[in-house]
Amino acid sequence: MDTVLYYLVPTGLVVGSVLFMEWFATWSHEHIMHGWGWGWHKSHHEPHDDALEKNDLYAVVFAGVAIAMFALGHFAWWPLTWLGLGVTIYGMLYFFFHDGLVHQRWPFKHIPRKGYMKRVYQAHRLHHAVQGKDGCVSFGFVYAQPVDKLLKELEVNKRSYDPQALKDEDRPATH
Ligand SMILES: [Zn+2]
Ligand SMILES: [Zn+2]
Ligand SMILES: [Zn+2]
Repeated sequence: MDTVLYYLVPTGLVVGSVLFMEWFATWSHEHIMHGWGWGWHKSHHEPHDDALEKNDLYAVVFAGVAIAMFALGHFAWWPLTWLGLGVTIYGMLYFFFHDGLVHQRWPFKHIPRKGYMKRVYQAHRLHHAVQGKDGCVSFGFVYAQPVDKLLKELEVNKRSYDPQALKDEDRPATH
């Protein structure tokens, strides 16, 4: 029983919150960032030379939530520590896939040529290949649908996209 309490329950809380965060990130990207939150997110869909963008404020908000969860976990309700750890791990995964792999905001370049990483890479490039906030596809970051499914979705949405997004893979996605 001790083992269950000390290892299994925290592990379940961490894994569960990572999974929840992918769902929540996808949902909020579609309904908040591409909705009433577009004011901040717009900066991420326009080309620019600045190192930072207004959209990064969302990361600051999420970091604040994680910090608050750690504090409450320590002082008030212990499961929040593990849930906060899950939120933090998700933030790291998000940074790796989104800011690193796709947008190359780190000092090295790796373009995935096969497998799941390529799928995630292409899917998010396609997210950026549509002008404006409406009719975009692929709002998730760690889970991604295959490109042909996303192209069909764009057809249904009656949105055109920049085909360079799937061809010119040596250039980082414009953002
Ligand atoms: Zn977006
Ligand atoms: Zn992006
Ligand atoms: Zn950008």
